[in-house]
Amino acid sequence: MAVIKANAYGHGALTAASALSAADGFAVANIAEAACLRDGGVSHPLLALQGCRDAAEVELAAAQDIWIAVQRPDQIELLEQVGPARPLRVWLKLNTGMNRLGLPAEDAALWQERLLRLPAVREDIVLMTHLACGDDRENPATQRQIIAFDHAVAGLAGEQSIANSAGVLAFPGAHRDWVRPGIMLYGSSPFPDTHPEHEGLVPAMTVSGPLIAIDERRRGEAIGYGGTWVCQEDMPIGVAAIGYADGYPRHAPSGTPVLVNGRRARLAGRVSMDMITIDLRGVARPRIGDEVVGWGADPGVDEVARAAGTIGYELLCNAGRCLDMTGR
Ligand SMILES: *Cc1c(COP(=O)(O)O)cnc(C)c1O
Repeated sequence: MAVIKANAYGHGALTAASALSAADGFAVANIAEAACLRDGGVSHPLLALQGCRDAAEVELAAAQDIWIAVQRPDQIELLEQVGPARPLRVWLKLNTGMNRLGLPAEDAALWQERLLRLPAVREDIVLMTHLACGDDRENPATQRQIIAFDHAVAGLAGEQSIANSAGVLAFPGAHRDWVRPGIMLYGSSPFPDTHPEHEGLVPAMTVSGPLIAIDERRRGEAIGYGGTWVCQEDMPIGVAAIGYADGYPRHAPSGTPVLVNGRRARLAGRVSMDMITIDLRGVARPRIGDEVVGWGADPGVDEVARAAGTIGYELLCNAGRCLDMTGR
């Protein structure tokens, strides 16, 4: 189940769906996203991870053949009240310790039984849970969640699903019938401490822009807003047309790596709306128009995210905010 919510983590959900057509299905956050994919011609199974909010969404899910998560008692009540045109495939989401969404796992048998009584629900209910700390390999919470899940669903019929990317990479015992990778499909690591290369992940997104200015600055001159970076010697400073309006993180500090003409250089001064300023010492013969990579194969999005005090997920989503579903 390839997770392509949030416009495929900023990559364009339709483009991702076509690139990932070998997947057995696609998961998105809500019914609206799933309906957009159906309208865009995606015929794979689609799962709405937050499920339905009202009767109209139940009807839409039935009409568009969208699978739905059920994670609250009122969502079961909704299915008891609405008789959709055809029965829906339900993923019963159990809370095993994340404490965000999910019905109490210890009553899994009761929830499943209640759902199975409904004409609105297909009998092949999937039993799922979500890991809270999978990105921290040493954290015992993950093993506790898996044990709680196994205990809750012991003896129940139905396919099972636990693993997000971190679960896929670090917890083979959590693979079960359906895995739900998201971030790793785009070549970013779910772990804060490793480079994606360690997992053989290939970055799908490159954020880049051309060099639009190169100037020799004198020792003592301050660069950009706030004058936060001061040249320690006479040196070339470049300006590239990438900024926080393009999703480049404004909190990336001076020193954050960028690639200029295939050579690593560093940010010098604050990120502007549409521009970054770069210390070009060490870049041989930079020219106007040269490509500057904010992130891509090198530097990886995770390295830039770490420098900016965030995670790759956020940078990818932000960079994709101005794109349509085809990624343009
Ligand atoms: C977002 C999400 C995933 C994918 O998580 P990644 O960390 O991106 O792999 C899987 N399952 C659920 C329920 C999610 O919300």
